[in-house]
Amino acid sequence: MNGNGAPPGVGDETTASAAPAASRTSTASAASTSTKNKLERGRSALGPALELVHTGRAPTRAVLTAELGVTRATAGAVAAELEALGLIRVDSRPGGAGGAQGRPSHRLAVEENGPVALAAQVHSDGFRAALVGLGGRIVATAPGKVTVSADPAQVLGAVVGAGAELLAASGRRCIGAGLAVPSAVAEPDGTALNPLHLAWPAGSPVRAIFAECVKAAGIDGPALTGNDVNLAALAEHRHGAGRSAQHLLCVATGHRGVGGALVLDGRLHSGSSGLALEVGHLTVNPEGRPCHCGSRGCLDVEADPLAFLTAAGRTPGPEVSLLQQARDLLRAEYAQPSVRAAAEELIDRLGLGLAGLVNILNPDRIILGGLHRELLYADPERLRAVVADRSLWGRSGGVPILPCTLDHNSLVGAAELAWQPVLDDPLGTLGAAA
Ligand SMILES: [Zn+2]
Repeated sequence: MNGNGAPPGVGDETTASAAPAASRTSTASAASTSTKNKLERGRSALGPALELVHTGRAPTRAVLTAELGVTRATAGAVAAELEALGLIRVDSRPGGAGGAQGRPSHRLAVEENGPVALAAQVHSDGFRAALVGLGGRIVATAPGKVTVSADPAQVLGAVVGAGAELLAASGRRCIGAGLAVPSAVAEPDGTALNPLHLAWPAGSPVRAIFAECVKAAGIDGPALTGNDVNLAALAEHRHGAGRSAQHLLCVATGHRGVGGALVLDGRLHSGSSGLALEVGHLTVNPEGRPCHCGSRGCLDVEADPLAFLTAAGRTPGPEVSLLQQARDLLRAEYAQPSVRAAAEELIDRLGLGLAGLVNILNPDRIILGGLHRELLYADPERLRAVVADRSLWGRSGGVPILPCTLDHNSLVGAAELAWQPVLDDPLGTLGAAA
């Protein structure tokens, strides 16, 4: 992967006889470890090391050493290489968290002024662009727009344009771009199969259109696309309420409809062609509302913001998003019997859907986003009781149900898509141009 112009470094075996980073700091290490072995370990450790710092799991070099299972010298060389790439900061000042025997260890953090990913999100009530650095940190966001054209190229051109303006103002290096859409994204073609809440044609080649817009804006790097709830789950797993879960189930409303995602051992489970976890079309009310999928009583139409407003007898207005209107009603007027009854109705239906998912997927944690997070806040015991009563594995109450914690988690997840090649091979992706 390394280009010929790559500087000598931990991962660059072709320059092992020169003065790679590992050997620069290895003079005090055990002579029994050959430089070559150390380099190989260092190379394979660069990506995992970056992911550990990125996800906050290696706040010090001592923790990094332990997590990687390498020598202190190798961990030091790896950290130095990531710092040289402008990705992390190594703080050697005294006062860091103690390592073995209370010895101060160098503190590690993502480089706050480092490269960024351009993240974009389109939903039924608008779109938004942001710049996101390592650590899931939102560096800048453009104001959200509130109309979405029926032409995907127009919308994606506008959102990429907004991102490019942020980029120019920031002066940061951009490592690539990611887009979150409220639709299943079929692989390997990158088409939006069911943008049900947008006026886009089904099967729109969103990834190709997005990539064209990104290229036209003069932005280098990959341009990738995913379903918004999948990306929210990925972001929450790395930086939010899903941290350290092994089998993380995420269920969330967007501004319209309901989506789900599963993160297995740190990777999104997206099925054979990207379409797994289409939980919005689980039937939770057989006699319920007709659904745009052709069925009836799906979670998508029985437990989303519009369903809640309707159940509470409210007519949605055009001024703010449906999600915002539903959230405001739930927070401000929960004491009113009609609002409370509507919330209980939605909680029961959501709980029924979650119970079925618990039986099938056996998650070790469930996180809820959008309106579902608000319903959990409103009456956590009711939701947990429904899941426990209606599921085999949930009966013991052993599956924690938690609210999502990140702002703009789909945007952060879209950035994760763009960051992934860097996380997989920091030197190969950034070394040549660093
Ligand atoms: Zn449906």
